[in-house]
Amino acid sequence: MRQSQLFTKTLKEAPADETAVNAKLLARGGFVYKNSAGVYSYLPLGWRVIEKINKIIREEMNAIGGVEMLMPALVDRKYLEQTDRFKLDVGFDVLGKKDKKAPYALGWTHEEVLTAIASKYISSYKDLPKAIYQIQTKFRNEARAKSGILRGREFLMKDLYSFHVSEEDLFAYYEKVKEAYFNVFKRCGLDTYYALASGGEFTISNTHEFQAFADVGEDTILYCSQCRYAENSEISKLKEGGKCPNCEGNISKSNAIEVGNIFPLGTKYSEAFGLEFQDEEGKKKPVVMGSYGIGVSRLMGTVVEIYHDKNGILWPKEVAPFDAHLIYIPSRDSNVKKAADKLYDLLSPYGGSLVGRQKEGVEVLYDDRADSTAGEKFADADVIGLPMRVVMSERTLEEDSVEVKERDSDSGKIIKLEDVPKCFQNSSAIFQKT
Ligand code: ATP
Ligand code: MG
Repeated sequence: MRQSQLFTKTLKEAPADETAVNAKLLARGGFVYKNSAGVYSYLPLGWRVIEKINKIIREEMNAIGGVEMLMPALVDRKYLEQTDRFKLDVGFDVLGKKDKKAPYALGWTHEEVLTAIASKYISSYKDLPKAIYQIQTKFRNEARAKSGILRGREFLMKDLYSFHVSEEDLFAYYEKVKEAYFNVFKRCGLDTYYALASGGEFTISNTHEFQAFADVGEDTILYCSQCRYAENSEISKLKEGGKCPNCEGNISKSNAIEVGNIFPLGTKYSEAFGLEFQDEEGKKKPVVMGSYGIGVSRLMGTVVEIYHDKNGILWPKEVAPFDAHLIYIPSRDSNVKKAADKLYDLLSPYGGSLVGRQKEGVEVLYDDRADSTAGEKFADADVIGLPMRVVMSERTLEEDSVEVKERDSDSGKIIKLEDVPKCFQNSSAIFQKT
């Protein structure tokens, strides 16, 4: 995409009312716009990051048999009354918080809605197991919407629900989801701990959270750095400096951000909605369920909390909105612009569109602006934080080259134009870190 076509611009200063690092940097780069407390728009660059995260999530969910659908955000009160969850303090009533007669709530989770649907399609052991997910906007009336996109009143969530013949089958699937979640977070650049957390009213045992260590995190995790056993301090009896119950290693403590949460639900929802199946002997039994959430927008904020420096964001490769920032340094010699245009067309045959991406294509943000200085362009590139910067200037063109620099390194390399595509096919060969 040509930067001249981009709807947004970078900001020199973060908005004065933002305190969280993620909110400041995302606002400065033109990734998000705060419409009101805890309510954000995802601008073109930010939406591309969300789409990258969603792509990773879809690949990992599909790999464990997940099937995607979309449920309404407007949840009829008849669903939530069935499980006594029409609680106006959690969700928003569409007609306002105080109106208890409102026919709908804005959905904050979808166990009820999906269980009601599932009862129309699941009736036999032959229909099981099933795993259904969606990626959707959720609404929660959070009292403190303060950490940028880490805690929104409106936010994006991936919610997966699984249906089984037995608890044994549920817990076997639970392990698969755990591995898939580790893959999702790893591909987003995050090292997560799998922490034991409290079970709620609607679960049959403890739940588990995926926690990314960060100072800004609202949760406190007690963990063993030797075997990675971890517990949320809300339920933990472990003490910092104590011994790990698993391996006798030392217990440490850290603030952390909950990026995902998984719940063994058992039969509470299936009983409430009459979701039964006939087993092999013809006996009717309630379906055993699990539910599994990932905070998609919180995940994006977490990446920023962990990957930034004083100049801006350092997007990990798989979630970066573009692979590279091609920068044209304005020059009176029109050949420089021509050469930059040509390189852009070569690298990014579809103009960086997410839809028509070719296998060999690179997603490029092309800073083609003629009225900005080199200094302004480099500062913008740092704020936006794409993994690679490719600079075409009078000086590099004289040598039929560009300067290629990784976002997290201080110096670049002069690369011959014909070798540039190779940089992206095998960047590690060119940027061998010593
Ligand atoms: P928290 O403990 O942070 O309030 P939760 O336990 O209520 O979250 P779940 O209902 O398990 O959250 O939702 C699944 C995931 O959605 C969470 O793990 C988190 O990543 C994300 N999430 C929950 N609430 C918010 C929010 N207000 N803003 C952004 N993401 C959220
Ligand atoms: Mg939680």
